[in-house]
Amino acid sequence: MNDPRVLTGIGVSPGSVIGPAYIVQWGLPDVPHRAVTAEGVPGELKRLRDAIAAVKDHLQELKRRTAEVAGPSQAKIFDTQILMLEDPEFLGAVEGLIEDNQLSAERAFEYQTLEMRALWEQSDSPTLRQRRADLAGIGIRVLHRLLGRSVEDVLTRPGATPVIVFTRELTPGLTVEFDREHVAGFASVEGTRTSHAAILAHGLGIPCVMGLVGGLDRVRQDGIVILDGTRGTVIIDPTPQEIADAEVVADRRRRLEVELEEVVDQPAITVDGIRVSLRGNVDLPEELDAAATHGAEGVGLLRTEFLVLGRAELPGEDEQAAYFQRVAQRFPGQPVVVRTYDLGGDKFPAAFRPPREANPFLGWRAIRVCLDEPDIFRTQARAVLRAQIEGNVQLMLPLVTSLEELYRARELIAESSDALRQEGVEAAQTVPVGVMIETPAAALLAEEFARESDFLSVGTNDLTQYTLAVDRGNARLADRFTPFHPAVVRSLQQIVDAGRAAGLEVSVCGEMASDVRAVLLLLGMGYRVLSVSPPRLPLVRWLLRRLDHGAAESVAAEVSKASTTGRVIELLREGIADLVDADLLSLA
Ligand code: PEP
Ligand code: MG
Repeated sequence: MNDPRVLTGIGVSPGSVIGPAYIVQWGLPDVPHRAVTAEGVPGELKRLRDAIAAVKDHLQELKRRTAEVAGPSQAKIFDTQILMLEDPEFLGAVEGLIEDNQLSAERAFEYQTLEMRALWEQSDSPTLRQRRADLAGIGIRVLHRLLGRSVEDVLTRPGATPVIVFTRELTPGLTVEFDREHVAGFASVEGTRTSHAAILAHGLGIPCVMGLVGGLDRVRQDGIVILDGTRGTVIIDPTPQEIADAEVVADRRRRLEVELEEVVDQPAITVDGIRVSLRGNVDLPEELDAAATHGAEGVGLLRTEFLVLGRAELPGEDEQAAYFQRVAQRFPGQPVVVRTYDLGGDKFPAAFRPPREANPFLGWRAIRVCLDEPDIFRTQARAVLRAQIEGNVQLMLPLVTSLEELYRARELIAESSDALRQEGVEAAQTVPVGVMIETPAAALLAEEFARESDFLSVGTNDLTQYTLAVDRGNARLADRFTPFHPAVVRSLQQIVDAGRAAGLEVSVCGEMASDVRAVLLLLGMGYRVLSVSPPRLPLVRWLLRRLDHGAAESVAAEVSKASTTGRVIELLREGIADLVDADLLSLA
């Protein structure tokens, strides 16, 4: 255990690669002191504006390049940095430092960037913490430019051998700054699964590990490393045996890929004939293709937050209706579950001034925002009702804790429907309304929610976070954040029992549904619908086609009696090993 050559972190983009380490010093440069006279102030202001304009041009260029290699939604990630560089409050503060304190442009920009960073670190908002890398990205670029260096001077380009890039902080720009074929993997000390750079690395299909514990000090420039973005590990100076093992795993993964491909059009039916529906979780429009080609039977979770991020204002009804219609047309006759905005922290459009909160995960977010600002909810409800005529569109409410929230949402939907009818707009009269069970309150009231809603869907990411009081994005707590904790396991059983007793469909749409061990458990508990991120669909289908439902039920019954996480995992591991090739566990 605790081999100092093995660094552990969070695997944010899967796949394993072997190659030389390429350590990038991508940080804020040292800014030398330089006196500025009163006469020099206008010159400094001009230098600042020129540098910002040049960096904005470069970011636009990166955005264009990203759109080409990863699609327009991924490219929108750069809007955050561009908007930061246009923020009058931020720029006004930098200019104020130049004018009032006679600081050089670079000193003033550095000061303001560091101040904002410190503020965001204190803020405790997970989204602000994630956006620190965006701030660092503009800080690095503007400061280097003011010091007379271009990005090309700072970054030596890797040669022809694909390298594994190591950096303290992986900014979104750095992710796309190199040519795709020269980079085999990324590793960083800072960062979480939901940071912009992680999303980009995933979109580009480059394995990536973030939140590396143990730091970079042990990694040598050009030293060989093995990076495993599935498990979230980096092995420094691997032994010949470790390299051979990694190659075996890579080879097995390739063979598994072939097997997965073979069943892509087959239904997910267990060996004893139990049918499970597999749907896709779609965050960005680009993922629709992947969901369809991987055989998704509809969209079990259509996240709508991307519609507002990086935007100056909320999208209107027409734009949303067009998007939902497009998704419905892509999955004719199959369910498309639109989740209303799960906004929170700084996940708001730029023009919306959210409150500062000491505890954003327990704050004004998700359904709370939508019900307090009913026009936001009505716009989404109207768009869903309009799209419903194109297919089987359904509406789902996030972070519900009380029945009153469901009643109020239904009232707003009914009002929206009446208004559409009076206006003569073509739309469905009603839409199935489901509740996400992702808080302990909703889990405890599952029977009531099952009576009052049309379907239930378990958000295991938040259900785990709130049941265990463990921040889902905190790298230090990653070991403690597990849906295999007996408290979460028992909750899951109660939810499915409540839903099925009321004759409702109960699905799982959290990350858990794509974990091999969880698939066995959820099947055994009685879940018949799983919604997973599109790249995981083939594996889950392949696995279900090998499982025996009767055996899964026995495992689930044993698991429900376990009182520690360790025991739950042990039982599931044994259960899987009995049913499928145990090597699978080493791959997934
Ligand atoms: C969840 O919480 O499990 C979920 C699916 O929602 P999100 O990850 O978007 O919070
Ligand atoms: Mg959630």
